[in-house]
Amino acid sequence: MPPTTRFAPSPTGRLHLGHAASAIRAHDFARAQNGCFLLRIEDIDPGRARAEHVATILADLAWLGLAWDGPVLHQSTRLPAYAAALDTLRAQGLLYPCTCTRAEIAAEIAASSTAPHAPVSGPAPTYPGTCRRRPPDPARAVAWRIDMARAVARAGPVDWHDATAGTVRATPLDQGDVVLARRDAPASYHLAVTVDDAYQGVTDVVRGVDLFDATHVHRLLQALLGLPVPRYHHHPLTLGPDGRRLAKRDGAPALADLRAAGQDGRALAAGLRAGHQARAHPPATPTRL
Ligand code: GLU
Ligand code: ZN
Repeated sequence: MPPTTRFAPSPTGRLHLGHAASAIRAHDFARAQNGCFLLRIEDIDPGRARAEHVATILADLAWLGLAWDGPVLHQSTRLPAYAAALDTLRAQGLLYPCTCTRAEIAAEIAASSTAPHAPVSGPAPTYPGTCRRRPPDPARAVAWRIDMARAVARAGPVDWHDATAGTVRATPLDQGDVVLARRDAPASYHLAVTVDDAYQGVTDVVRGVDLFDATHVHRLLQALLGLPVPRYHHHPLTLGPDGRRLAKRDGAPALADLRAAGQDGRALAAGLRAGHQARAHPPATPTRL
């Protein structure tokens, strides 16, 4: 069966070259096998998503020469589906209300740290489980979290497949009791992406390696919700001239700026493709832009 891939930007800012590279990979993967390339706008965060960014994203993709199939799916239209998934997990006894503020969580993590000086590097600390250990107070909930240990026990061991890493045993416990819904955003990234990849029939998720660990959570949710499991293709991130990953905060140019300056989007896409090809063969030096 031909594959279905998707590009799923969050319209919280403008796209940069790293987004372009990722969209091109997902697009080309599908097109090379006569498959479908879908566009999904992940606009469920009412505080951060902006309509003007959506328009810019569509224009950027057209400028790069990337055409998507079918209508664009906006996650803001999918809230009933996320609510249904939450109900399923709640009925399984896997969710609990969290009333903690960010400051409370930070204080709890600091207090429980045994080291006098917390390490400056290493994985970000996970939620310490405060509300899991106290009587639930749904009326004051600011978020609903998954009881990860309980969820893992229910799902049992599950694997997923990554094109580079091969068969991966899901280890979602390392992610802690992640948030699946907030008072101001009825579904979190983890929940919405899992529900929608299944809804859209995505067979192959092509995205940056920065989301590799998130896939452990997505695979667990697939098991709990009875959803199909796509294949994953986590690609290396596009690095800037200084060797650091491109991100808006690093001053990477937005695609819209390059477009406005009269650059040829298709030529830019060709350059990014050539970089991907070069990296596919040793010596594996990162693409520099
Ligand atoms: N919306 C996410 C982002 O822009 C990507 C989602 C995904 O590819 O799974 O970072
Ligand atoms: Zn809490």
